[in-house]
Amino acid sequence: MSFDEMGIKDDLLRGIYNYGFEKPSAIQQRAVLPIISGRDVIAQAQSGTGKTSMIALAVCQIVDTKSSEYGFGSRLGFVFSFLFVQVQALILSPTRELAAQTEKVILAIGDYINVQAHACIGGKSVGEDIRKLEHGVHVVSGTPGRVCDMIKRRTLRTRSIKLLVLDESDEMLSRGFKDQIYDVYRYLPPELQVVLISATLPNEILEMTSKFMTDPVRILV
Ligand code: AMP
Repeated sequence: MSFDEMGIKDDLLRGIYNYGFEKPSAIQQRAVLPIISGRDVIAQAQSGTGKTSMIALAVCQIVDTKSSEYGFGSRLGFVFSFLFVQVQALILSPTRELAAQTEKVILAIGDYINVQAHACIGGKSVGEDIRKLEHGVHVVSGTPGRVCDMIKRRTLRTRSIKLLVLDESDEMLSRGFKDQIYDVYRYLPPELQVVLISATLPNEILEMTSKFMTDPVRILV
């Protein structure tokens, strides 16, 4: 299968080819189609398989970068309306480096669709997160702790999130992020699409899949 046969928007295809990819890797061939058709997906895959670009590709295809919403604010006694971009996809990763790398790949391949993404990671200034999130982005890629914090501060609005990606889920659990993942999940809309990627599928992960997912497609790469 080629990228052209995947039903991907033209401007996104341009971004992929421009990034230097010619042919989808095995995980991209098998996971992108079910994800963009709206299915929940469990992908058992290691890093090095092209999973980060698979996530970037699926996320960029799913988000509608033309949609925005009117909001209201008030300052010095004046009420004003403004347009803001809604967060539509949230990706959780175990490390700051992976979350930042995922943001980078999304911005690169999504350049021609004008996707706006932000990495919400510990160690960076909270002020920068607040500024970026208040202005609005289509995609947030972050570590569970910082994302949870931003949601609780109501800086990260979850109402319009339609896709949750849990990358390197076994690694997130072994780093002690289980409670934060469940906390984040509780704030997300009920009709949520979930993609879970993990190198291994221990019981704790299977528990998560049965709580978060509906009739998932299983892929082993
Ligand atoms: P990942 O598993 O996502 O970390 O990707 C591992 C490496 O493979 C990265 O350097 C990617 O840029 C590269 N890669 C991912 N998908 C493709 C592809 N379809 N064609 C060529 N290289 C790729």
